Amino acid sequence: MARGRLIPDRVPISAVPPAERLTSYDECLLLYSREEAIQEAQRCVQCAKPWCNLACPILQDAREYCRQIAEGDFEGAVDTILLDNPLAGCLGKVCYSYCEDACVVGKKGDPVAIRHLKWAALAYGNGGRTYRREGTRDQAVAVVGAGPAGLTAAWELAKRGDRVTVFEASEKLGGLVTQTIPPYRLSHETFAEDLARLEPLGIEVRTGVRIGKDLPLESLLENGFDAVFVGIGTHHPWTLNLPGKDLPGVYIALDFLKQVFDGDPPPVGGTVAIIGGGDVAMDCSRTVLRMGAEKSVILYRRTREEMPASPEELEEAVEEGVAVNYLVSPVEFRGEERVEAVVCQKMELGPPDDSGRRRPVPIEGETVTFPVDYVLVAIGQKADLEGLPDLGLEMARDGSIQADPETCETSLPGVYAGGGPSIVHAMAQGRKAAQSIAAYLEGRSETTTAAAPT
Ligand SMILES: Cc1cc2nc3c(=O)[nH]c(=O)nc-3n(C[C@H](O)[C@H](O)[C@H](O)COP(=O)(O)OP(=O)(O)OC[C@H]3O[C@@H](n4cnc5c(N)ncnc54)[C@H](O)[C@@H]3O)c2cc1C
Repeated sequence: MARGRLIPDRVPISAVPPAERLTSYDECLLLYSREEAIQEAQRCVQCAKPWCNLACPILQDAREYCRQIAEGDFEGAVDTILLDNPLAGCLGKVCYSYCEDACVVGKKGDPVAIRHLKWAALAYGNGGRTYRREGTRDQAVAVVGAGPAGLTAAWELAKRGDRVTVFEASEKLGGLVTQTIPPYRLSHETFAEDLARLEPLGIEVRTGVRIGKDLPLESLLENGFDAVFVGIGTHHPWTLNLPGKDLPGVYIALDFLKQVFDGDPPPVGGTVAIIGGGDVAMDCSRTVLRMGAEKSVILYRRTREEMPASPEELEEAVEEGVAVNYLVSPVEFRGEERVEAVVCQKMELGPPDDSGRRRPVPIEGETVTFPVDYVLVAIGQKADLEGLPDLGLEMARDGSIQADPETCETSLPGVYAGGGPSIVHAMAQGRKAAQSIAAYLEGRSETTTAAAPT
């Protein structure tokens, strides 16, 4: 499609007003109308080289679905999206949209709102269609973990005709997506709609089974499974080993979110300090306000520039009244019966560390004390490998497991593994592992894929 002049401003994405948002867990961002979606998609300049597609870990053909939406062909856009994306609904709402970072229109103005267009396509183009089995290979594959990585591996293998059984430790499918991402960003109905698309694939699911505790991993291969994919995410939170860390009122943020969204919220109120600057910190800071906290204060040891949270998440948190204190690092939790204050060392930025971000360096003798009623420690998490055999896995900086980067193979023949720091990265790993498993099962080294939503 030939495009005319570049339009720098995106069609505004409407949101529920901040004060109203805090009264419920309903989604904050609002869907484009059909007309708005078409108008926004028409901002896509249809680059000869599809930078957006290339930036996407699952290589979604964003350029093509923008073209289709621009022509009002929402059905066609859904076909394009579902070809590579079994969790399209979730990604339409909370993907970190690497495609938009690469969008050429963004050099002159706002990048095309590709993520929001995906949501619009599913809403207006029969996103309710389902996948079907295409192959008849009929080998048995076990998938450990029902997060984005595991579900994507299961989708890919089941399409090929394998008998897939997913073993999930919790009672919920979806991994961190349903266990921790708050419904005000991603409703659980959206995940359920994605899951419904997979239903005809006949994937068997066994929840409440922790591999390594309830069943040894090795027993899967010994008892009829031809291959295994391990997609266990990052469920072991880092803690701060500081004086007062065990005082009542000091919580581990990841566990806190899991409890809240499992319907068993721990008490919280008054002033809540959240330590950290990533997804978990942002989601906690906004969730506690919905739970009735008077003040939600983020304490982060670097500056905005080094913060891992997405600009959108931080902006929405600040709109809702979250306060952010930069260049402070906790050194003590103080209190008699329970936590009453967080003592922080003031920091300044030094030279970059091995993450490439400027290192926080203490300013000698300068501390600041924040009076608090609760503290949530959100400083990161890593894979929980307890009970699993040594699979020769590396741990990435984000805490996820890394097997062979090309094939996702582990050191145990027939066992593959993967995960990642975002939903779409984890999905890419799940798909890559499934392709390797297919090659392993077919006794060949390469394979191709072809998903076909019906
Ligand atoms: C609060 C929060 C907000 C986030 N927000 C976003 C966002 O907005 N956008 C984005 O793209 N990403 C976001 N992420 C990151 C994203 O959720 C993860 O990168 C993604 O879920 C990883 O997928 P996964 O399948 O590798 O692991 P998980 O989603 O963690 O799934 C792993 C599953 O394995 C299960 N499991 C673990 N061990 C075992 C075992 N031994 N046996 C059986 N089952 C097991 C777990 O219960 C879990 O269900 C967020 C993460 C958090 C914590």
